[in-house]
Amino acid sequence: CGIVGYIGPRDVAPLLLEGLQRLEYRGYDSAGIAIHSSGKGGGLKTVKNKGRVRELEAKVPARFAGSTGIAHTRWATHGAPNDVNAHPHQDAAQRVAVVHNGIVDNSSELRAKLAADGVELVSDTDTEVFAHLIARSEAATLEEKVREALRLIEGTYGIAVLHADFPDRIVVARNGSPVVLGIGEKEMFVASDVAALVSHTRQVITLDDGEMATIKADDYRTYTTDGSRTSSSPTTVEWEA
Ligand code: GLU
Repeated sequence: CGIVGYIGPRDVAPLLLEGLQRLEYRGYDSAGIAIHSSGKGGGLKTVKNKGRVRELEAKVPARFAGSTGIAHTRWATHGAPNDVNAHPHQDAAQRVAVVHNGIVDNSSELRAKLAADGVELVSDTDTEVFAHLIARSEAATLEEKVREALRLIEGTYGIAVLHADFPDRIVVARNGSPVVLGIGEKEMFVASDVAALVSHTRQVITLDDGEMATIKADDYRTYTTDGSRTSSSPTTVEWEA
């Protein structure tokens, strides 16, 4: 249903929670966030639950420090609203975290193939396959890992992806479900809806279907799912505060 992401110098959890609150008007049944932990050992940390963003906020541990993260409000299509089915979804080794809006049409086929390969699927969602497919890709870059996964996926998506081995970036992709980049000063945002961005920046880029983007704290680039660069300069969004 709703996606928010941030990469920059600030403490990310409060920013993500604020962004999720701005998306609450769209309705949802569950919420969650994943961050690149700046704590000892690093890696990805996730907290998610069925219920309100306020309840999620109460569950965020005191030590949940990081300045890169993604967040989601879920409107369940595949799998009941519960804590496990809430996004972000991860692979077993927790190297990847994915939030997804939309519907994977061939998820039962992909789930069956993954299960036959020994992958344990923990949720009932169509979304979880993204996390496993990206984690299993042997491609060298995160962009190519995501691209390989997308080649296997049929359906609609707006996704945002974190990978423990690539802490300097968030990779996003759009096919039928809106993804908007927010360009800040040495910080970048992503969201499914400008409502989640406009308190931070009015400089936005709306991705087209079949387009992907990499955002870093001080840089962004957009390209097609085939990897060819697309040109995009930010436009200024008008918004009544
Ligand atoms: N199909 C996904 C699910 O049921 C995403 C739903 C959404 O867009 O929130 O988990």
